[in-house]
Amino acid sequence: MNHDDLRYGNLKHMQTAWSELTPGEVHASWSGHLTACGKPVIEAKPVYESHPRDITCAECGATAVFDLNTAREHAKAVTEKYEASGAITHTFAFSFREDALVAIAPKAFEMRRKGDSWNKIATDFVLIAAPDKDGTSMFVGKVGMAIIDGLKESEFQGSY
Ligand SMILES: [Zn+2]
Repeated sequence: MNHDDLRYGNLKHMQTAWSELTPGEVHASWSGHLTACGKPVIEAKPVYESHPRDITCAECGATAVFDLNTAREHAKAVTEKYEASGAITHTFAFSFREDALVAIAPKAFEMRRKGDSWNKIATDFVLIAAPDKDGTSMFVGKVGMAIIDGLKESEFQGSY
């Protein structure tokens, strides 16, 4: 994901955008020259004509309808405890949070658009990513659930 765009993570100043690299796909852009998923923009709609309903790229959609920084903060609260205990390094914590966000947020966008509940998203996540009772599964599960909480808390309240 393109971090410059992810900093905004909301619908203010969002432009729906197209990239030559992905014909037919509708992305979102905040800079006007890169999509939130990091592709060069060939054409973008004005902000006032841009709506999250039109976005088809799940990564861009997630950036538009959720505040990814809220999700990051929730996840950080979890990883900080593991860092404090010496179980993981700061670098690992950072990259793990980002990887988890990249994996979860677009999926959550697709599922919410389909009408799935947050409960279903959380249940599916645990089944797929953290099905066991060991320490690693617990860690993955806690970070993922924190991210899901953050997405839920910051979700755009209109239709998309
Ligand atoms: Zn995109």
